[in-house]
Amino acid sequence: MNEIRRVTTTAAPLPVATPWFTATRIDEAITLVTEPHVHPLLRANTWHIRGRDHDLLIDTGLGVASLRSALPELVGTHREPVVVLTHAHLDHMGSAHEFTQCWAHDAEPVAEAGRGSLVTDELAGMVGMSALYTDDLPPLLVGAVPDADYDTSTYRLLPTAVTRALAEGDEIDLGDRVLHVLHLPGHSPGSIGLHDRENRILFSGDVVYDEFLLDDLLGSDVAAYRSSMHRLLGMDVDVVHAGHEGSFDGARLHELVDAYLSPPR
Ligand SMILES: [Zn+2]
Repeated sequence: MNEIRRVTTTAAPLPVATPWFTATRIDEAITLVTEPHVHPLLRANTWHIRGRDHDLLIDTGLGVASLRSALPELVGTHREPVVVLTHAHLDHMGSAHEFTQCWAHDAEPVAEAGRGSLVTDELAGMVGMSALYTDDLPPLLVGAVPDADYDTSTYRLLPTAVTRALAEGDEIDLGDRVLHVLHLPGHSPGSIGLHDRENRILFSGDVVYDEFLLDDLLGSDVAAYRSSMHRLLGMDVDVVHAGHEGSFDGARLHELVDAYLSPPR
């Protein structure tokens, strides 16, 4: 009888990383939460803003570990924040289902089940990342797991109900701080930015960050992206807290926008 041999990969198990999240205090109200063991492509920034009447959580990470249970220690308060999603990509809305309030633009598929993967090839097929780009990526987009039993192959986004649909011009009032909603489509149809005019801060999501910008995903729209970028050119802010990578000033914002809008050489 012929023995059928299947070639299996015997990769070493991933290390267990605890704690999963790291927090960086930006000022007395704003804390950055991130996931250091996630590949930079999916390592998104989660911004917690402490307000007088409400706290806000801008995006929620990948959802590999429970953000809601880790959050009090990370941000120093047990008060449950209102979640605002800049858009519904997996690295931004993974833990949104854990929270009572979830606000997002209604052009984003927040309530859609079964999206997302930590396996690069599978994710590329789902979101339309070009083969050229995925060639540079490792097969798995996490370098650790939050506990020894975590199975990276089963990762999927949990659908989340949007409790308030956000639109251009909406105001989010925290009592001592108001954030203005900017609808900035292009990266995704319902991408939003949040503009704190008084403090001259822009929370930009994936519309602009200090790295290669993605405008060829499923749902991306280059023409819309360009007009969103033209809007950002007209903005005068002191700091941009982006969806990925480090924060930057208004001059760097204009450089990044100019670079995007320049025709390729
Ligand atoms: Zn995105």
